[in-house]
Amino acid sequence: MPSDDLRTFLEEDRKGDPSGRVVRLLRERGSLSAAEIARASGLAKSTVSSVLAELRRSEIVVDAVAKTTSRSSRAGRPGTAVTLNPRAGACVGVAIGPTDIRVIAADVSHAIIADQSVEMPLDYSPQTAAKVTRRLIEEACAKSGVSRAALIGAGIAVPGPVHPETGRVQRASMVPTWAGTDIRRVFAPELDLPIFADNESNCSAIAEMLWGAAVGCDNFIFFKVDLGIGGAIVVDRRVITGLAGGAGEFGHMTLDPAGELCICGNRGCLELYGSLRPALRLAAARFGASITIEELIERANAGDVGCRRLIEDAADVAGRGLAMVGTAFNPPLIVVGGRATAAGDLLFEPLLRSFDRHTLIKRSEMPEHLRTRIVAGTFTADDSCLGAVGLVLKHHGRVGEARV
Ligand SMILES: [Zn+2]
Repeated sequence: MPSDDLRTFLEEDRKGDPSGRVVRLLRERGSLSAAEIARASGLAKSTVSSVLAELRRSEIVVDAVAKTTSRSSRAGRPGTAVTLNPRAGACVGVAIGPTDIRVIAADVSHAIIADQSVEMPLDYSPQTAAKVTRRLIEEACAKSGVSRAALIGAGIAVPGPVHPETGRVQRASMVPTWAGTDIRRVFAPELDLPIFADNESNCSAIAEMLWGAAVGCDNFIFFKVDLGIGGAIVVDRRVITGLAGGAGEFGHMTLDPAGELCICGNRGCLELYGSLRPALRLAAARFGASITIEELIERANAGDVGCRRLIEDAADVAGRGLAMVGTAFNPPLIVVGGRATAAGDLLFEPLLRSFDRHTLIKRSEMPEHLRTRIVAGTFTADDSCLGAVGLVLKHHGRVGEARV
């Protein structure tokens, strides 16, 4: 087993070393051909081929298998692609949801090997989450036949901004009691693994960058419309965290300073009007029972004019918020994620119309190559958990450098 060699490559920063650069690239991108490695790394083709020969000899790199999971970027790759040896290691992604915890495990070739989740009571504590996560990881290892020792790290998607160095949760919205939690201190003793953490929208952006709608795009904005509004800013394939971890929190831009009180403590935040939460509240009042996002969309698709109107109104406001982001960044690509995207044109038509009306650079006035592309994300329900796997693969958000 080459896992010790690989671990050295994965844990050391060997950017100046051609072998280290190739391994880092494969860890992040899954499978690549030699030509793709040369292009992405800037190394000469001859250097890449001698590095690959050496890495093959030491079994760190193997041929990519044609068989693929639906979430892998390997689909459609030519047979010449290589990956890291899947036996060399695996990583886990953990999504901390308001009422559930989910764990996805993937090997270093990016193949998903386990997917487990468990329902949780409202307002569960970080300590409980760490214990449950440990059990889910043990079950995932047992089911997939992966040894616990093969795990190279755990990525944690947190529903709130996370300080990029200390791993402290700055503010939490969906799970309010997590504010101030030191993710490393809580999770590292339970999991005994290097811990990577970031807020869930940043994780979603990583999933879209590695396997979804932003593959091949180095700069983009992620904008999530769900029960809240989240977002992420990606520049040169790096997710911008900001000084305290609060970058990309588009849902908390103020639209109306005299508006309703937001869970964040400010008033009139974008997500109070542009997410689907107010739509669900109004729909519940109309139907006399609470309904889910999926049911709202289903009723709208079935022709319920009230439900259609609620989605359109949310999209109109979300588009106005997105237009501010568009004006600030003028990005080449905006990936819209979240469960609202299941509404399709019902969401996207008013969203795009509103974006164009309120942003400085109008898509309708631009030639094709200068037009911001706005597309639906590939993942909706499992984006942040997949992205938490991506935290480890990309080595993003490592909290506290010492291995506990
Ligand atoms: Zn707010």
